[in-house]
Amino acid sequence: LLKKNSLHKKRLAGACAGVKAQAIDALLVTGIENIRYLTGFTGGTAYVIVTPHEGFLLTDPRYSTQVRTEVRGYRVRIYKKAIDAIVGIIIELRAKKVGFEANNLSFEAYAKIKKGFNNKKALLSATTGIVEGLRIIKDQAELDIMREAARLGDLGFEEARRRLSGRTGRVTEREVAIALEFAMLSNGAEGPAFDTIVASGVRSALPHGKATQKEIKKGELIVIDAGARASGYNSDETRTYSIGRPTAEQKRVYSTVLTAQSKAIDGIRHGVKASLVDAIAREHIRRAGFGRYFGHGTGHGVGLQVHEGPQISPKSKDVLEQGMVITVEPGIYIPGWGGVRIEDTVAVERDGCEVLTKSTRGLVSL
Ligand code: ZN
Ligand code: ZN
Repeated sequence: LLKKNSLHKKRLAGACAGVKAQAIDALLVTGIENIRYLTGFTGGTAYVIVTPHEGFLLTDPRYSTQVRTEVRGYRVRIYKKAIDAIVGIIIELRAKKVGFEANNLSFEAYAKIKKGFNNKKALLSATTGIVEGLRIIKDQAELDIMREAARLGDLGFEEARRRLSGRTGRVTEREVAIALEFAMLSNGAEGPAFDTIVASGVRSALPHGKATQKEIKKGELIVIDAGARASGYNSDETRTYSIGRPTAEQKRVYSTVLTAQSKAIDGIRHGVKASLVDAIAREHIRRAGFGRYFGHGTGHGVGLQVHEGPQISPKSKDVLEQGMVITVEPGIYIPGWGGVRIEDTVAVERDGCEVLTKSTRGLVSL
């Protein structure tokens, strides 16, 4: 517990520094992942107010016991009406300029808070990325959790392969998704990181084809994209399998994606531009003649959210740093034919990266 306390103390100090740097008197944190990150609170409803010197956590009476066991180092307030409590603290602090998270506040809540503040002559000011800027670099405790999330995800894929093998024509996409999620959850995952994608046959050309009642047939490719959540952190992994012996064309597309992904992974280390990692994968796919079939970015940061910073795309301005956790997921999607995507979650290191997801990457025929 001591260790945990110092972790959240350090994170609060980081947020306080961010408030100072933005020249605001206080920051209203409304993103639930940001609140979990800063305070350790795992409940579903809360607000945090960070000043240059301290932090407040506000929640409703349902969580009064939970907040006492989970949160240390914050001034905790249990409220009846959230907006009144927020405005009350702002008055107490005599704050004049209060930042809010532009990404994480509904227009309705914004309007209510603004009304409360207007009466007290406090200004609301949009901010972005103060807490996300801290979250983008994972500490050792977070990396340990993410290794565990990746391990649970791998167990899901292992079960999906088992479920598919030798059962051609007798298993549907949804049955595979359920078996995969059941394996992750029964081994200790809090939940799936997102709705499991299982897309077979021509549907595999849909980058985000949710699992349907479609039966999986011999000769098809099947793209499975899934992840596990452990202690709030997500893994994200994609594998493409062939059902029965792959055709020459299926093998060619697969090996193009696999080489693109391997080259991109080899290019990852501290100090490298994220756009360069994207370019490595994209260039390989383009040279193989499939450039127009790769329409999305090569990857994204992952952590408390499945999609967070940095971005691995042609337009990204991000530079990779040690402690970032990102996905590498090039793909080729040919309408009417099918698709291949291979995705791993990796942690950026000083001289390379650690691949957290460990399922076999070569083409597996089931
Ligand atoms: Zn994914
Ligand atoms: Zn992803």
